[in-house]
Amino acid sequence: MEEKKDYRAELFYEPKNGYDTLSDAGREALEAYCEEYKRYLDVSRTERESVANAIALAEEKGFTELVPGMELKPGDRVYYSNRGKALLLAVMGEEPMSAGAVITAAHVDSPRLDLKQLPLYEDSEIAFFKTHYYGGIKKYQWTAIPLELHGVVALKSGETVDVCIGRDRAEPVLYVSDLLPHLAGEQMAKKMSEGIKAESMNIFAGSAPYADEGKDRVKLAVMAILNSSYGITEADLISAELYAVPAFDVRDTGLDRSLIGAYGHDDRVCAFAELKAILELGTPRRTAVCILADKEETGSDGVSGMQSEAFEWFMGKLCRADGSELGDCFAKSVCISADVTAAFDPNYPDVSEKRNAAKLNYGVGLCKFTGARGKSGTNDASAELVAWLRRVLDDAGVQWQMTELGKVDQGGGGTVAKFMGNRNIDTIDAGVPVISMHAPYEVVSKYDCYMTYLCMKAVYEA
Ligand code: MN
Ligand code: MN
Repeated sequence: MEEKKDYRAELFYEPKNGYDTLSDAGREALEAYCEEYKRYLDVSRTERESVANAIALAEEKGFTELVPGMELKPGDRVYYSNRGKALLLAVMGEEPMSAGAVITAAHVDSPRLDLKQLPLYEDSEIAFFKTHYYGGIKKYQWTAIPLELHGVVALKSGETVDVCIGRDRAEPVLYVSDLLPHLAGEQMAKKMSEGIKAESMNIFAGSAPYADEGKDRVKLAVMAILNSSYGITEADLISAELYAVPAFDVRDTGLDRSLIGAYGHDDRVCAFAELKAILELGTPRRTAVCILADKEETGSDGVSGMQSEAFEWFMGKLCRADGSELGDCFAKSVCISADVTAAFDPNYPDVSEKRNAAKLNYGVGLCKFTGARGKSGTNDASAELVAWLRRVLDDAGVQWQMTELGKVDQGGGGTVAKFMGNRNIDTIDAGVPVISMHAPYEVVSKYDCYMTYLCMKAVYEA
């Protein structure tokens, strides 16, 4: 009997709950790491804030802005802010760039409600902002919750004004209404995707009229507040990027505090993991590159998205410093597409295939492929790359699990992985499993957050 039992342990793959192998010291390190992440996330509610806060942390750790023509030697720490909306950081390795770089790529944009370019109007003596949602949202989740307004207004003078309303408890919040149940019979009979119309997602901006007798008195009063706070006029909103984001604090979740509830875990939870790992890195064997990308939620297009040549520009500068060719560097590089995955949710078991779904507290989730309808649009990491990552993580004592985003033909999704793979860079997805992904309040496990950080660290140090 005893022999058979050992045989089973030897031959079978049996994932374990992370808490079963976590030491007291590990538990302490996990809690300390998560407190740091929570502080970062609480003040990083847009891609711009995520980038600005990351730069501040990087400069504290000796990173300087990459200047074209700069001489670079092993151990040098540089960053490039792509228009303040995406960030690339590197620690130069002992080996030349032609030996390849170790890249981790997360994104710092999250689903939200963007203000339109001509947002402000008055209807029935109430002032509203028109919105256009950003990323994949279930619209009904974004009504009847407190919202903050974050972003920038670019002026014709070239000056840019930062806007942040509602983060401070003393400031007001904004709001998108929903129907009362008493009058929602028709609405409730509709498909959930049709219950809330995008053009009804207008933000309540004010209701008290300006003290005169002209038209649009409430709109005027709201515009007067914006003018006195930020020195802007209605025309300046045309060149603004203003986002309404959930006004929820980052909070420990569950009676045992093992989970974290917050807006925007996708994908700042992986962005912070790789950021912290690269900030603490000494001189690596191969150059380490950390990417905080923008525009992932809308397909990675545009100048700050992962399909932008800004990446080639940055990597090209690093290559030129030691006479390497960019193509040679890419061919030998490896990339961890550090993005969240779906955690198995026992409240909704039908959408997952249990054997291949990520479980809370089982560690960083490795995803060989994404896509939909027969892996369409996937990067599909090679078996060899999966084996390499298994070895790196096992050697470093990092707990990981294999994941798949839902049952076959249930739906699907993508990450920046395919855009890295298309560049001739070996790429695999790895990140934190999330409950209620893309909801205004998402939940992750502290254990998995910590293991994702250890994963990024192990990869850089491999
Ligand atoms: Mn994501
Ligand atoms: Mn997402």
